[in-house]
Formats: sequence, C-alpha cells, structure tokens
Amino acid sequence: MGLYDAMKDAINLAQKADNIELYRQLLDLSAQALELQAEVTRLQEENTELKKVRNLEADLEYHVDAFVTRKSDVKPIKYCAACWADKKKLVPLQDISWDNYECPLCKARAVDKSQWEERQ
Ligand SMILES: [Zn+2]
Repeated sequence: MGLYDAMKDAINLAQKADNIELYRQLLDLSAQALELQAEVTRLQEENTELKKVRNLEADLEYHVDAFVTRKSDVKPIKYCAACWADKKKLVPLQDISWDNYECPLCKARAVDKSQWEERQ
C-alpha cells in the first residue's frame, strides 16, 4: 500500500469514528506527507541530472586549447570548453578555417595547435 492510499484509509477511519481532532491531524499529516513526496521526487530528478553531468565529466578530455573531447567518441568531436564550463552543455565546434573552430552558441573560438605539430 502506498503512502497516499494509507493516508486516505486512515482519514476514512477517523471520519467513521467521528473523531474530528484525529481527522484534522491526519489531514495535516497527509498534506505534509505529500509535500515530502514532492520534495523526494524533485531531489531524485536533481540527483539523476548530477549523475549525468558527473558521468559526462569523467568521459571528457581537456586540451591546452579551448575545446574538450569525449574519450567515448569513436571519431573525436571538439566541443566548446566555455559552454561546458558555464552551462554543462556539450556544443560541437564548427570548423571555420584551417585549425580554427567557433562555437555556434557562444561564438568562442578555439585553435587546435596539436595539428600543427603533427604536420611538421
Ligand atoms: Zn560555446
């Protein structure tokens, strides 16, 4: 039996017993229980969101330049380091010219200097 059904049954019993004071107290407890239930649901959602960010964080690799990549990406994609730091959003950077990248959201720019060393 769930919390809601148990409270409803107790309130019905108090009503049948014609105990007004018990009935009022159970109604008050019922309201508090529903508030607590809503808080538990909110905290569970927040916890899920925090776990998602923590798992993503563990998958990220930071670079000297202003982008991050994911270890799990088969083909590495460069994501905006500013958007990740600010909003915990992974926004893929756009390749605007040789080794220069721009974030379509915040317009931050990044240069991938690691490509320069590979070419020498
Ligand atoms: Zn950005």
